[in-house]
Amino acid sequence: MVFKSINPFSQLIIAEHEVLTNVQLNQKLQLSECAFKNWKQTTFGQRADLIKKLANILRVKKEELGLLITNEMGKVLSESISEVEKSAGNCDFYAENAERMLKDEHYDTPFKSMSVYDPMGAVFAIMPWNYPFWQVLRYAAPAIMAGNVTLLKHAPNVIGCAKAIENAFLEAGFPEGVFQQITIDIPQVESVIASDIVHGITLTGSEMAGSSVASLAGKHIKKSVMELGGSDAFIVLNDANLEKAATVATQSRMLNAGQACICAKRFIVTEKVADEFTALFTQKIKSLQQGNPLQQGINMGPLARLDLAEKLANQLKKSLQQGAKLVLGGEREDCNFQPTLIDFVDSNNIAFQEETFGPLATIIRAKDENDAITIANNHRYGLAAAIWTEDRENAYRLARRIEAGNVFVNSLVRSDSRVPFGGIKKSGYGRELGAIGIKEFMNMKSLIIE
Ligand code: NDP
Repeated sequence: MVFKSINPFSQLIIAEHEVLTNVQLNQKLQLSECAFKNWKQTTFGQRADLIKKLANILRVKKEELGLLITNEMGKVLSESISEVEKSAGNCDFYAENAERMLKDEHYDTPFKSMSVYDPMGAVFAIMPWNYPFWQVLRYAAPAIMAGNVTLLKHAPNVIGCAKAIENAFLEAGFPEGVFQQITIDIPQVESVIASDIVHGITLTGSEMAGSSVASLAGKHIKKSVMELGGSDAFIVLNDANLEKAATVATQSRMLNAGQACICAKRFIVTEKVADEFTALFTQKIKSLQQGNPLQQGINMGPLARLDLAEKLANQLKKSLQQGAKLVLGGEREDCNFQPTLIDFVDSNNIAFQEETFGPLATIIRAKDENDAITIANNHRYGLAAAIWTEDRENAYRLARRIEAGNVFVNSLVRSDSRVPFGGIKKSGYGRELGAIGIKEFMNMKSLIIE
C-alpha cells in the first residue's frame, strides 16, 4: 500500500510513500525502546545542543522545506517559510527553558519532600497536514528535551514533510530512534498505542479522529492530549476599532486558506456596527489575491485536498439554503475555493454549528455584548476566541465569561511557545507549549526523604 502526495494546486502526484508492514512497524517500536534507554540518561545540556543544531538546520533549509510544505499542502510559500522559522524558534525556546521548567519542586513539610520529573518513554503523535512542521515541532521539541523519544504518524498527504523532519533530526546528530516518523494506516494505530514503549499519545485533528484515538488511549490506559477542532468566535462590540478589527478578521479567517483550528470562524458583531464592519470586512477580503501559492504577491493558495474543498462547498450550499446571505465569493474550482463571506447566519445554521475548514467567514448579528457572549458560548467547541473593544477592563470581564481555552483581546489569536495552548469542550483537553506543555508526558514523582 502507498500514500500519494498530490500537489493541491496542480493536482499532480509528486511522490508516493510505502506504508510500513507490521513487521517493519515492530522494528521501529523496538528501536524506540532502545533509544529511550540511552536518551533518558542524557543531560539537559546535551539535549539542548542537539535541539539547537536542529533549529539551525531548519533555518538554513527554510526555503527548501517551505517549498516542500507548499507543494504537499498548498499554503502560500512565504507562510510555509514562516512556519519553518516558527518551528525552529520553538526548538530554541525549549532548549533554553526545559531544565528550568522541569526542576525539582520542594514542599513545606517537616520532612524533605519534593516532586521530580522523569521522562516516561515514547510519545506517539498523530498530526494533521495544515501546519505539517509546526504541529510536529510544537510537541516534539518539549518531549525530546524532557528525555522522552517520539513516534510520528503524520497525515498521508504530508509524508514528505514527515520524512524531511526525521532527516533533519538525524542530520543534527540525534541518535537513531529518538525521533521516528512511521508511515502507517489507521488499522495499525492501535498496536502503537498498545505498545509498552508508548506512554503518551498526542493528537491534533478533527473531533472524530480525537474521539477514536482518545478511546484507544483510555482502553490501554495511556495519558493523552487532544487538540481538536474549533469554531472560534470573533466578537466585535460597539466601541471596537472597526478598521483594525476588519484587518485582523481577514487575517484570522483567511490565513492558510482558512485551514487552522484557531482561525476565527464565527464573526459575532453587535447590530449597531454590523453593517459598517461587514462593509470593511468585505473590502479587505476582496483585496486578497488567490492563485499559485508559489507566486509572489499571492496571499491565498488552494485547499489541501479535493475532499476538503468539496466538504466546504457542501457546507456553504446548505448554509445558504438555511437562510444565510452570500456577500462575496462562493465559487470553487477543484481545490481553489474563493474567499467567501456570508451574513445573517444564526445558531441553527450549519456554518455556525460545524467547523468550516477553509476561507468561509460568517457574520452573526448580536443584540448587545451579553447576547454576543451567549452566542459565542452556545457551541460544542471551545478552543479560542477574540474580543474587540476599546474598553479593556470590560474586555477582561467578558473574557472571563468566554468558554474557551484561549481568549485574545484586540489581537490575532495565535500560538506562542511561551504561552500554554489548548481547548475545552469538544476542542479537546490537555495543554501544549509553555511550561505545562513539557510536563504533560512526564512522571511527576513525589519523593519523600525522612
Ligand atoms: P483528520 O482529523 O481525519 O486527520 C488528522 C490526523 O488524524 C491525520 O494524521 C489522520 O490520519 C489522523 N486520523 C484520522 N482518523 C483517525 C483515527 N480514527 N485513528 C487514528 N488517526 C486518525 O482530519 P482530515 O484531514 O480528514 O480533515 C477533516 C476535518 O478535520 C477538516 O475539515 C477539519 O474540520 C478538521 N481538522 C482539524 C484540524 C485542527 O487543527 N483542528 C486539523 C485537520 C483537520 P489519516 O488521514 O490517515 O486518517
